[in-house]
Amino acid sequence: MADPQNPADSLAAGLEHEQLLLQYQPVFDIRKSDPLLLTAEALVRWSHPDRGLLPPGEFLPLASRNGLMPAVTDFVFQRAVEQLFAWQQRGIRLPLAVNIAGHLLRDRGFPARLLRLLDEYGIPPERMILELSEQGAMVTVPATLDILQELMACGFPLVIDDFGKGSISLVQLLRLPFVGLKVDQELVQQIGRDDRAKQLVRGIVHMAHDLGMAVCAEGVEDRETLFLLKGLGCDSAQGWLLGAPAGAADLPLAGSGEGPVGAVSDALARQPEGRWAAPGL
Ligand code: C2E
Ligand code: MG
Ligand code: MG
Repeated sequence: MADPQNPADSLAAGLEHEQLLLQYQPVFDIRKSDPLLLTAEALVRWSHPDRGLLPPGEFLPLASRNGLMPAVTDFVFQRAVEQLFAWQQRGIRLPLAVNIAGHLLRDRGFPARLLRLLDEYGIPPERMILELSEQGAMVTVPATLDILQELMACGFPLVIDDFGKGSISLVQLLRLPFVGLKVDQELVQQIGRDDRAKQLVRGIVHMAHDLGMAVCAEGVEDRETLFLLKGLGCDSAQGWLLGAPAGAADLPLAGSGEGPVGAVSDALARQPEGRWAAPGL
């Protein structure tokens, strides 16, 4: 019998009672002075009846330990594709990035299932970017490699998440044509105070560009970091400075100058004219 005091039972009940939801965080192109919304990242939350809105760190490990990850994942992809469909109905072609859970990289039926789901809603796979955390990548496992190759062959853009924190090797990087990488926020947040961190990010950007990958910086919280990233040649950025995860309605879809776009414009406008790079570059 389900015990409401048992966290796993409580999560299972939460899934059943539709307490999970997705928030969306904007990702902006930072190459031009006019900030452009490039994509949004879908981030799962649990609206807990007693504890409020819980971030994934508070319940994904619990889901993993209790065999609930497939149910969480089904919810995430279903909700993500519904959001893409809602945008498409309004003529909005914004791609949505979704984080792939580790268990899917051992599930040979996953690529075909995901493709079928998108097909049902008439969404092209290019519209759903799949973020692969380095932690769960395990690109060395042959089955995983096959699954990733199949996803790419289906047309899903694949991106490496949290680059710099995990353990993907350069040889593994060569094996798969990832379209981009997201530099881990711990590294990004040090570039303003640590010259070596800055040089490391510079090197990552060069390497990624030489391999034909775009670079997104995660966890951008302040203007100085944003300007440093521009100077280092980073293509896009995501972080609280530019827009925190929120409901889909909060995304600056029309580029109206409200919300996050406005915040970026303000940040850029306050910089002396023609100076994209912060001092020290
Ligand atoms: P991630 O994919 O690297 O997502 C970025 C995380 O950084 C998010 O945390 C976001 O809220 C947070 N963040 C964004 N901007 C800033 C900032 O400026 N400063 C700081 N300090 N943090 C910022 P969140 O939502 O707690 O998600 C944590 C991780 O959980 C994600 O990291 C991702 O690996 C995983 N995750 C989230 N949603 C899903 C999902 O639907 N499925 C799976 N499998 N994993 C998910
Ligand atoms: Mg991610
Ligand atoms: Mg990340």
